[in-house]
Amino acid sequence: MAQGYQADKARKEAVNALGRELARRSKSRCEFCGAAGRPLEVLEVLPLPDRPDPTRAVLLCEPCAEGGRGGRLEPYERWRFLEETVWSDVPAVQVMAVRVAKRLQRANVVWVQDLLSGLYLDPEIEAWAGQSG
Ligand SMILES: [Zn+2]
Repeated sequence: MAQGYQADKARKEAVNALGRELARRSKSRCEFCGAAGRPLEVLEVLPLPDRPDPTRAVLLCEPCAEGGRGGRLEPYERWRFLEETVWSDVPAVQVMAVRVAKRLQRANVVWVQDLLSGLYLDPEIEAWAGQSG
């Protein structure tokens, strides 16, 4: 158990260490909603790579990280920015945006149906977005 804890802790530190590089990529803004001047959190995009990798991680504000982790999405209207974010040229951002959009689609959010039906995804991105673990 102690070993697992150490491994978790080491991973967490390595993930947090990506923050600086991701802040450069995102100009210290949330990579989902574009919010600036807020605390930002590094979130890895599943499936987890062997070691934390900035190309497989995103930098998000608190409510965006909550949704990105699979948590609460209400109020659904706050996610309207996904209409732009799903076209991000950063693959990890695009994949996570598509996953959140698909959850909104399952919740029958009307504007998301249009967003997803008009979306063209690179086959690699589509395959990645379809993986969960
Ligand atoms: Zn945000």
